[in-house]
Amino acid sequence: MAEVRRTGRRRRSPDVDAALMARARDLSDRYLGGLPQPESVRWVSNQRSRWGSCTPGDRSIRLSERLQKMPDWVVDYVLIHELAHLLEPQHDEKFWAWVALYPLTEKAKGYLLGWSDASNLSRPPD
Ligand SMILES: [Zn+2]
Repeated sequence: MAEVRRTGRRRRSPDVDAALMARARDLSDRYLGGLPQPESVRWVSNQRSRWGSCTPGDRSIRLSERLQKMPDWVVDYVLIHELAHLLEPQHDEKFWAWVALYPLTEKAKGYLLGWSDASNLSRPPD
């Protein structure tokens, strides 16, 4: 039986999404009063044009794997953004008031905007 030698990156185990879930819950508690309670949070590789997305119906959140090479505080912003969508589906004033509770929101938006410009990725997180 040949053992496959893993060069390069280690394969992600399901634990990684559990860690992401724990992180989302922690952010929800810390900044959003624990109100958004996601049912699932996971990394996905198929989001070409978005940093993150959520489905309020089943309270699932997905983050683009491209965020994995970005600073933690940027990933936290995208998580906060998607968590806030569990409370407010539209990008309206109420939504942004939630997101603004995360102190690095403006900085993170600037970071992602700069990155998007550099890579022709035009859309902010959804
Ligand atoms: Zn959004």
